[in-house]
Amino acid sequence: MRSKPAVTIERRHFLRTAAAGLPALAACRPLFAAEYDLVIRGGRVIDPAQRVDRTADVAIRAGKIAAIRPNIPASAAAESIDAQGQLVVPGLIDVHLHARDATLLPPEILKTGVTTMVDGGSRGADNVDQILEIARNAPNRMRLLLNISRLGNNPNPDPARRSEFLDGTELADVAKARAAIERNRQWIIGMKARLSRNIAANHDLEVLRLAVQAATPSGIPIMIHIGDTFSPLPEILKILRPGDIVTHLYAPPPHGIMDDAGHILPEVRAARKRGIRFDFGNGRNEHWTWEVAQAALAQGFPPDTISTDLEVVGRTEQVFDLPTVMSKFLVLGMPLNQVIACVTSNASQTFREFKPYGTLKTGSTADVTLLELAQGNFEFVDNYKGKRTGQQKLITRGVIVGGKRIA
Ligand SMILES: [Zn+2]
Repeated sequence: MRSKPAVTIERRHFLRTAAAGLPALAACRPLFAAEYDLVIRGGRVIDPAQRVDRTADVAIRAGKIAAIRPNIPASAAAESIDAQGQLVVPGLIDVHLHARDATLLPPEILKTGVTTMVDGGSRGADNVDQILEIARNAPNRMRLLLNISRLGNNPNPDPARRSEFLDGTELADVAKARAAIERNRQWIIGMKARLSRNIAANHDLEVLRLAVQAATPSGIPIMIHIGDTFSPLPEILKILRPGDIVTHLYAPPPHGIMDDAGHILPEVRAARKRGIRFDFGNGRNEHWTWEVAQAALAQGFPPDTISTDLEVVGRTEQVFDLPTVMSKFLVLGMPLNQVIACVTSNASQTFREFKPYGTLKTGSTADVTLLELAQGNFEFVDNYKGKRTGQQKLITRGVIVGGKRIA
């Protein structure tokens, strides 16, 4: 700390001498540059990782968060954003979406406020190069879950071989998956296994065991897709390891997180206690109902993370974007700060690679999302055309990724 006053004196001295008319002022311009590259002014700053919720300015320098405090003088900022009346939160993290198509590329998703995202198993060992290319070119942080099916999420493009998609085991190639992970470990941060009967038939447990075999050498988690599985969920949970993720946690029966009477299964609570994580995964097909979500929240079983499971069609129906999906939890009565935590601090804990993100702590990467909490009457739908009206809706108003403001 000793050096700090010395720097100030040196600077003052320089200012005096410069004012006295010394030449070469232009060459020394960096010394006169504003203290901060960008200041986001007067917003309601919510950063659950630091338990911050207050009106303040957020200052960014060299791509990092430099300060959060009120009333930073205008002269200290090269550029300012007026965020009065808006929420200023860490860049949103979507732990489950599908950015595999040319019509829904990462720049489009970044505009919705998502600065970090995970493609949830769109591709497997045979076709992972396609999505790696998309991730490499992404302006935001995009990482992948490798599908245990070597073809990924999609049916075999050859119509004659389409039924292979239904054979969960033939396509679950452990050696190929391991090799793909090893080759691309900086991009592949987990595995995905779809366990519904339309994918895994009656092989769900077997497919999951193969996914565990594939993931174990690299120590990465597995995200499983539940809802209409052949096996009851407790049987599936037995195979999961701490850190693994259950997506579509509010899938309706059969074999969801509740018993026939609508009570959360004790095995599901026990799984959460031993470190298994539960993700929302909005999607469009049979992944959730208002009733299951409401009943689970009433029993103290919120999601750890709120994700979109967004793909091309969802961009214009049901899902739209992550702030819209977050708004559905406001309709369900979840407090705003908890909703924000599900897409920032909680999401950053889901993958160890994301630990540095999802916060506005000083020194962290300057990923920031500006949201408006609009008031009015807004209609939201579940996956079964169930409608509810809410009085609040989160709308993205600005995005900064790595200190760079996105137009
Ligand atoms: Zn998905």
